[in-house]
Amino acid sequence: MTIHTRSVAELAAGLARKEFSAVELAEHFLARIERSNSALNAYVTVTPERALADARAADEARARGAAGPLTGVPLAHKDIFCTDGVRTACGSKMLENFVAPYDATVVERLHAAGTVMLGKTNMDEFAMGSSNETSHFGPVRNPWDLDRVPGGSSGGSAAVVAARLAPVATGTDTGGSIRQPAALVGISGIKPTYGRVSRYGMIAFASSLDQAGIMAPSAEDCALLLQAMAGFDARDSTSVDRPVPDYVAELGAPLQGVRIGLLKEFFAHGLEGPTATLVQAAIDEYRRLGAEIVEVSCPSLPLSVPTYYVVAPAECSSNLSRFDGVRFGHRCKDPRDLMDLYKRSRGEGFGAEVKRRIMTGTYVLSAGYYDAYYLKAQKCRSLISADFKRAFAEVDLLLGPTSPSPAFAIGAKVDDPITMYLNDIYTIGANLAGLPAMSIPCGFDGALPVGLQLIGPHFGESRLLSAAHAYQGVTDFHRRIPAAYA
Ligand code: GLN
Repeated sequence: MTIHTRSVAELAAGLARKEFSAVELAEHFLARIERSNSALNAYVTVTPERALADARAADEARARGAAGPLTGVPLAHKDIFCTDGVRTACGSKMLENFVAPYDATVVERLHAAGTVMLGKTNMDEFAMGSSNETSHFGPVRNPWDLDRVPGGSSGGSAAVVAARLAPVATGTDTGGSIRQPAALVGISGIKPTYGRVSRYGMIAFASSLDQAGIMAPSAEDCALLLQAMAGFDARDSTSVDRPVPDYVAELGAPLQGVRIGLLKEFFAHGLEGPTATLVQAAIDEYRRLGAEIVEVSCPSLPLSVPTYYVVAPAECSSNLSRFDGVRFGHRCKDPRDLMDLYKRSRGEGFGAEVKRRIMTGTYVLSAGYYDAYYLKAQKCRSLISADFKRAFAEVDLLLGPTSPSPAFAIGAKVDDPITMYLNDIYTIGANLAGLPAMSIPCGFDGALPVGLQLIGPHFGESRLLSAAHAYQGVTDFHRRIPAAYA
């Protein structure tokens, strides 16, 4: 069995059996990156020296008998996580030369767990986008079809895992940026409950929505990694102090009697063609596995996209005000005065989509429009949360599509922001309500993967992961790898 086609769990088992060392594993993936990254543009920074140093440390830990379940497992970090001494550019010209002075908590914890960092992955600028086309470093290509997008904003992480240029990668999800790209490249991805994983050192886009998570071949792999990432962090004021369950041990929970809700609003209109057929087939599979399928409704859910596109820009306009050309990030040449420094540094440093969001955000927060837009959006957000709460009084999980269509062509939607925003129609609700959600592969539309979404109640990660794991026990879509990378 070739090394890179294995899941994280299988690689960890191989390391434990001493079938290969951590150094050999890192070298194997570094060679794959060397061969394939230029075509995919999925890594923006490769860190071979760091990888080999981490790998040597992992091998030494194993020799000492101090290895944990992830010791020696290579991984890639989305370039939104600060990495000590390594450039953290967040897909932007603004941070093109920014070297972070510390590690994000996610990076620190995964490092402490013995993982080996291969590099940083490309992403939409400041995580704003659904196709990876807003990156200052150019679009990422979908390993299943190089003319198509991998989704976004965690498109680089999605592509490296799909092409097995890393066995697993971190991602972030503000409105769908883990789940939608996972769906478009045929891998598994989990966005945990808001507050479950620390946001410390994760560059902020919309702080009330942002959450870190994992993109990996299987649900089991997501469980393994989430185990190491989750938990209270005093450095993040929104981190929740609540024990972390044993996600791996709970993977085997039976589906017998589990109530799965189909959201009427997700199946009402707009969902058709092969995606609808494949999601239906997955529902049948869940029924065979013993789950009880019922229909539920969240009537406010159709408000989620407009609500998000008020709340997220409002928060981003505030968060991104720190990039002023003074403290860090891009600074314009020869400013005439302070105002000129601000204007030109920001004008030159930010791309078009980021500017559009900042302008929308400042507009909806302005004194004259606050009530009409921002306050209204907050009320809609409360309605959406209340709808989900009612739904979870009836069911254990919700199931639906992740994305309305499979991967689209690069360039197809860039000039039409509204069409681009509609990619998130099924994912945004979970962010607005702070719920955990995941996407897993459920088949193919021609040569392109399609994703199935599961949404759980707050802190229901174990149930999500075990339901996904049960499905992956009777299907093999998550094992498929694009022929060019097999
Ligand atoms: N596509 C959404 C946006 O552009 C979500 C992005 C994200 O989850 N980071 O805002």
